[in-house]
Amino acid sequence: MSDICPTILPQEIACAEANAPPCGIVVFGASGDLVRRKLLGSVFELFRRGLLSENFYIVGCGRSNFSDEQYRTDVGNAVSESVGDVPPELLRSFTDKIYYIVGDYEQESFYKSIAARLTKLNKVHNVGGRRIFYMAVPPLLYGTIVKGLDSAGLSCPGLPGCEQIRLVVEKPFGADLKSSDELNKIIQKHFAERQIYRIDHYLGKETVQNILMFRFANTIFEPVWNRNFIDHIQITIAESAGVEHRGGYYDKAGALRDMFQNHILGMLAFVAMEPPVSFDADSVRDEKVKLLQCIRPLTEQSVNTDFVRGQYAAGEVDGKNVVGYRNEPKVDASSATETYVAARLFVDNWRWQDVPFYLRTGKRLARKNTEIAITFKKVPHSMFVSAGLGDLPANTLVIHIQPEEGILLSFQAKRPGSKVCMGTLRMRFSYAEVFGGEPPEAYQRLLLDCMLGDQTLFTRQDDVEVSWTLLEPVLRAWANKPSMLYEYKAGSESFPQADRLIKSEGRTWRPLREI
Ligand code: NDP
Repeated sequence: MSDICPTILPQEIACAEANAPPCGIVVFGASGDLVRRKLLGSVFELFRRGLLSENFYIVGCGRSNFSDEQYRTDVGNAVSESVGDVPPELLRSFTDKIYYIVGDYEQESFYKSIAARLTKLNKVHNVGGRRIFYMAVPPLLYGTIVKGLDSAGLSCPGLPGCEQIRLVVEKPFGADLKSSDELNKIIQKHFAERQIYRIDHYLGKETVQNILMFRFANTIFEPVWNRNFIDHIQITIAESAGVEHRGGYYDKAGALRDMFQNHILGMLAFVAMEPPVSFDADSVRDEKVKLLQCIRPLTEQSVNTDFVRGQYAAGEVDGKNVVGYRNEPKVDASSATETYVAARLFVDNWRWQDVPFYLRTGKRLARKNTEIAITFKKVPHSMFVSAGLGDLPANTLVIHIQPEEGILLSFQAKRPGSKVCMGTLRMRFSYAEVFGGEPPEAYQRLLLDCMLGDQTLFTRQDDVEVSWTLLEPVLRAWANKPSMLYEYKAGSESFPQADRLIKSEGRTWRPLREI
């Protein structure tokens, strides 16, 4: 294969980036992993890029005992760890706007002291009452925190201007339909839906949003984006990492809950949905939900044929020996939790009838690789058959999400030389080469959108309901038959049972490779 690289002319780039309005951010679980590794660095980058208002503040909250000054030092360290060296005066001007409140999530007095402090900080920083409550705590605390906020008059659903007060809820949103319904009911007792921002950080990735631009800002792809031209679609989220320090959480969740119900189905919806009327939150989310509703319902029977679950055993990744899942810290030594899921789904509508969507996600695979690959139908007849070129490879369009963000279109073309000499060419667009550097961390986009009150990339309640309803038979089938779990060696590309799912129809998984 050979590569052809495109160029984007700077004058052709149209940008519409709004600056955040004045805002206070209150973070629960402020000492935790997510806050230290992702959130603080992302808010800092928004600050450094000039996208935050001068009038902002952050209040960290939790049981850990910090003074304001101690927490500022901790934040400074966390920011430097996640974004690299930062000029000290710039870091100081950021951390000067950071505060900390110690308290017990169960106590009403905690929320009263938050309310009293916010009243003061709103005046000091002149934020005009706009605030975000970010729940970066284990999900078991979500209900307690929303009740506490309400008890201190901090949620005010239904009152004029309540949409200025926002609640960010991290994944996982429930563990099944029942628990997600219960969680929705508790949260919606205290916050209106237009105040709730359920995070699916995959939707904050530049390349995932680019699916919408690619499909709906061009005319040349939409006419072939259907069952008449597309043979099948593969969506892959492969990780070479294991569960790392999150074994306790992961062992209760597994790949279906952690990756499939949210990120894989979210990407599927973006790739397959109908064109929204406009790029506003409700139009986009209406189409997303409509698409999810069209996914052919599963039965316990169809789960047996259309889903495969696996768990990694010891093996070698990136030249290093790694332990099997059951030997990871905080994982049950006899755990039946899956670290890999592969599935075949169908979307029953005019556009997609009978086009298989092959979806897979797994940990400790050969390589980190997230991509959406659209394989078109083969030519109906090859005129080159007499030259031995009867079976021409199909065109593929690959949207690479990570680690190398880009788009790849492969097609057949003549090679110089003999009269009939053909090869597959790849037309490649790499974000890093064209725009330089890494795209911004997904949390930057999501935090900025939340400050701006734009819910487009956040998951609506009906979306959560539809996706859990779809997966209920899978959870039931696996609970009834925990033995339906295959072992794969850490560092493998795939394993026989996962291969069979796609090979039974004469297709193969794409190799896990960089673009
Ligand atoms: P942590 O386990 O690091 O917990 C965050 C903070 O919550 C802790 O520092 C602690 O703060 C408080 N906390 C933890 N356990 C309890 C408890 N049992 N009772 C009361 N307080 C507790 O979580 P993460 O930062 O990893 O994740 C936070 C949320 O974000 C979770 O919902 C997670 O699923 C989600 N998430 C995390 C990701 C990650 O990469 N870490 C990725 C995607 C989502 P203190 O003791 O000071 O109160």
